[in-house]
Amino acid sequence: MFYKQIHDRSALDYSGNFNRTTYDTLRASVWIAVVQVPLSSVTSRLFLPFLGLHRQTMDAPHIGVMLVALSFLTTSDAVLPGNPKVIDMTYTFDDTTIYWPTAKSFRLTNVFRNYTAGGYWYEAAEMEAADHGGTHLDAPAHFSRNKWRTDDIPIERLMGPAVVVDISAKTTGNAEYEVTPQDFQDWENTHGRIPDGCLLFVKTGWGKYWPDKRQYLGTDTKNTSLLHFPGIHPDGARWLVQNRGMHAVGIDTASLDYGQSTTYESHQILFGANVPGFENVAHLDQLPTKGAIVYALPMKIGDGSGGPVRMIGVLGGTVGAAGTAKPMVGLMCFLAGLFFTLLPVALLFLTTSDAVLPGNPKVIDMTYTFDGTTIYWPTLKSFRLTNVFRNYTTGGFWFESSELEAAEHGGTHLDAPAHFSRNNWRTDDIPIERLMGPAVVVDISAKTTGNAEYMVTAQDFQDWENTHGRIPDGCLLFVKTGWGKYWPDKSQYLGTDTKNTSLLHFPGIHPDGARWLVQNRGMHAVGIDTASLDYGQSTTFEVHQILFGANVPGFENVAHLDQLPTKGAIVYALPMKIGDGSGGPLRMIGVLGGTVGAAGTAKPMVGLMCFLAGLFFTLLP
Ligand SMILES: [Zn+2]
Ligand SMILES: [Zn+2]
Repeated sequence: MFYKQIHDRSALDYSGNFNRTTYDTLRASVWIAVVQVPLSSVTSRLFLPFLGLHRQTMDAPHIGVMLVALSFLTTSDAVLPGNPKVIDMTYTFDDTTIYWPTAKSFRLTNVFRNYTAGGYWYEAAEMEAADHGGTHLDAPAHFSRNKWRTDDIPIERLMGPAVVVDISAKTTGNAEYEVTPQDFQDWENTHGRIPDGCLLFVKTGWGKYWPDKRQYLGTDTKNTSLLHFPGIHPDGARWLVQNRGMHAVGIDTASLDYGQSTTYESHQILFGANVPGFENVAHLDQLPTKGAIVYALPMKIGDGSGGPVRMIGVLGGTVGAAGTAKPMVGLMCFLAGLFFTLLPVALLFLTTSDAVLPGNPKVIDMTYTFDGTTIYWPTLKSFRLTNVFRNYTTGGFWFESSELEAAEHGGTHLDAPAHFSRNNWRTDDIPIERLMGPAVVVDISAKTTGNAEYMVTAQDFQDWENTHGRIPDGCLLFVKTGWGKYWPDKSQYLGTDTKNTSLLHFPGIHPDGARWLVQNRGMHAVGIDTASLDYGQSTTFEVHQILFGANVPGFENVAHLDQLPTKGAIVYALPMKIGDGSGGPLRMIGVLGGTVGAAGTAKPMVGLMCFLAGLFFTLLP
């Protein structure tokens, strides 16, 4: 069906060479010319007389304007200013990454980066760092005993509409400035109440100094008495937790408290109320005051007090929205409107279509916790969290922090193409837009039962398409082998709990299957619920070579695929942004049955304007 084809094609594909907006405008014009004009012309000729209406009551100009208005609505995701713009609010983790002066800095140690004896490229590294540094999460437990640790925070708390409180005018020439309750109230007087469930960001303007320690921290020494940068005043923090319901608070400095603080009162107040924090938030200058949706996905460290976070702001649209039911709802309302002349009512449904879609989203955490049980490749370094401090300080307040070390590849993680393909994308090279999209789940668990050697063929993908339609461009494709049920039992999940890789047994993708995918389909990435895209017995890792040779990233040890529908979820797969890395820990979520913070987007306003325009021209005598 033509209609369906149009909307299948509209699934996000950021990798296309030509401009999205041009494409969208073109698509909308074709849609109006080819489908809507003839359709409603025929419909009005056939049915208006039945309803006692003459063509004169709705003549060509009126119908024309309404058609345009309706086209805006039925394709509203496409004709709104482009598909979403995604802002990476994260600094890269490398030698220059700023840590607290007393904390362990980030270090990436190369394990191998060369051609193997087998003739293919391979690279992998190990990393170590404090859990607080770079763009990172402060879990409430960092300063508040028995409050949420990193992996305790409900996933829904880590996303929401962004509110940016810009106090950079007050910090100019005043590195000691602390944000007051009055600053938040002034913001509300201009922009309305700070909404429940938002992520509130304080923009001091300090981002412009990153990564120059002397300017950003006030010192490049380990002497914390020399720290100078703005922060949130304890009264400001108190006012927020007592009066507003934000999900979390972030700042573009190294600490929620100002540099000269020695008691970290704002930390204590926010975390005492179980409000997580984000520090060293990047690129706040690219975020509007309101209107972005932020996803802040930290590495899921078991028992951690914080951790590296990958944070994105999504602006001016909804990731994968064109693949949702809305266009179909729009078409139905449009037809119903013409039939029953209840156009105003139908249009009202459309203008609030986000609201009438089924409920708020369900968020599925597709990530395993990083702890002592996390499965790594037998030959690689496992995850280790080393406690640095976990007690009351001499100042009387609770404090805890840790250091982490691990191979890049283990647990739920990203394989950057460079892992097996020289000169292709490393971890921080991957365009952020490639790390999200509508999910497609290819379930081959029926074939892996009793057959740990099964490899997914091109035919398996084609069978899936025969039932569910073409694998859309820009999707994240997940292969569900059913192996997730064995996690974290190494003997069952890997086939062995030894370091002998010849004993590895688990299903994977067949090289022919991988080849068919990269030659025929435009998915953003491929994930699997086993330890490798190749099956356990592979020694040449051909599937890795094929996918990564085509710059298609991979996700391994993907969790909870059984909770994902075959189609319909939008997945955000946000890896730790390791500079020059070949992969890294990944926090991945599936969003189902709605749009995070959708009510806060501009779409309803566009819809309302179209509705009023349509109404005006309909009622025009
Ligand atoms: Zn911190
Ligand atoms: Zn890997």
